[in-house]
Amino acid sequence: MTARIGFIGLGIMGQPMAQNLIKAGYPLAVHARRPDIMKPLVNAGASAYENAQAVAAQSDIIITMVSDTPDVEQVILGDQGVIHGAQADSGVVDRSTISPSATRRLAELLGKKCILLLDAPVSGGEQGAIDGSLSIMVGGKEETFQKVLPVFEVLGKNIVHIGEHGAGQVTKACNQLVIAQTLVAITEAFVLAKVSGVDPAKVREALLGGFASSRVLEAHGQRILDHNFEPGFKARLHQKDMRISMEAAHELGIALSGAALATQQLNALIGEGLGEEDSSALATILEKVSGVTI
Ligand code: NAP
Repeated sequence: MTARIGFIGLGIMGQPMAQNLIKAGYPLAVHARRPDIMKPLVNAGASAYENAQAVAAQSDIIITMVSDTPDVEQVILGDQGVIHGAQADSGVVDRSTISPSATRRLAELLGKKCILLLDAPVSGGEQGAIDGSLSIMVGGKEETFQKVLPVFEVLGKNIVHIGEHGAGQVTKACNQLVIAQTLVAITEAFVLAKVSGVDPAKVREALLGGFASSRVLEAHGQRILDHNFEPGFKARLHQKDMRISMEAAHELGIALSGAALATQQLNALIGEGLGEEDSSALATILEKVSGVTI
C-alpha cells in the first residue's frame, strides 16, 4: 500500500520536495502557519489541515522541513503537535538542520509512544530539491530507514544511512562547516586576485579545473562574482547551522577554529541586516574589511 505522507514546513526547500512527492503518486497532507503557501500544493492534489496534529493523524510518514531546533520541537511536541496525532509505528522524518543532541531527545520522547524518528537533513540547495537530487544523510534505526527509503529515493540521489539517532545531524553540521570555510577561502582568493590586478572570474575558471575545484566554487563563486545574493540558502540559516557546530565544539571540548572564524563573519553579515540574503553574501564582509569590491 502506498504510504500516506504528511508534510510540515513548505518554504524554499519543503515546497519543491512536497511537489515531487505528489508527482510520484503519494497522497499528501500538509500544514503551514501561513495558509497561502499551501495553495500550490492543494492545487496539485494535497489536502490542507489546520495543524500538525491533524496532519499526523492522516499520515504513515510525517516529514518536517522547518527552520531551527525550537521550530522542530514546537511542530512535533507543542500543543497540536505531531506527537498528539501520530499513530504507533508511524515514522517522523525531520529534514530540517537542527541540533544532534536535541534530535536524540526527540527520538526518546517519540519512542515512548512507539513513534519512529529519523533525522534526515539534506544538502544540494533549492535546485537539488526541485530536481529530486538531494544528498540525504540519515540517522536512526536501520529498520525505519528501510521503510522510508522509497520516499528518500523520490527526493534525493545520494542517500546514506550514517548511524544512530543524531548521526545525520552531525554529518550535516560537518557539511555546513566545510561550506562556510570554503566560502571564506573563495572570497579571500577573489580579493587577493582583484587587489593584484587579476580578474577573479578568470581565477575561478582556472581553479575549477584543479584540486581547488568544488560545487561551492562553481555555484557560489559565480554568485559572488555577480553579486547575486538572492536566496538560495538564507544567511540566517547558515548562521544557525554554525551555531550548532559551535555548541557541539563546546559540549565535546574540541577546537573548531576555522569554523569559528567563518561563524564570526556570518555574525557580522547578520549584524549588517543581511540575514535574508543568500549565505554567499558572506563575501561582502571581507570586501568591506579589505576595502575592495570583487
Ligand atoms: P525557509 O524558506 O525559511 O522555510 C522554512 C519554512 O518552515 C517556512 O515556510 C516557515 O514558515 C516554516 N516554519 C518555520 N518555523 C515554523 C514553526 N515553528 N511552525 C510552523 N512552520 C514553521 O527555509 P528553507 O531554506 O526551506 O530551510 C528549511 C530547513 O532546511 C532549515 O533547517 C535549513 O537550514 C535547511 N536547509 C536549507 C537549504 C537551502 O538551500 N535553502 C539546504 C539544505 C538544508 P513561515 O513561512 O510561516 O515562516
